[in-house]
Amino acid sequence: MPIYEYACNACRHEFETLVRSSTVPDCPRCHSTDLEKKLSVFATAGSTVEAAPLAAGPCGSCGHPGGPGACALN
Ligand SMILES: [Zn+2]
Repeated sequence: MPIYEYACNACRHEFETLVRSSTVPDCPRCHSTDLEKKLSVFATAGSTVEAAPLAAGPCGSCGHPGGPGACALN
């Protein structure tokens, strides 16, 4: 589920909120809906390391203790 970071244009309060497609977020401080979306991050806890497609090859030279591909996760 996406988490969006907003800045309220009315009171400049910044906050993060989960956004569901059917709801319009509002400022938790002043309840304005005049919001500026700043960025989004995805709640990817539990995402699989195996999904990294380009990591396996070249980083064998980096010496990362996590093994081949680990350095690409930084
Ligand atoms: Zn506000």
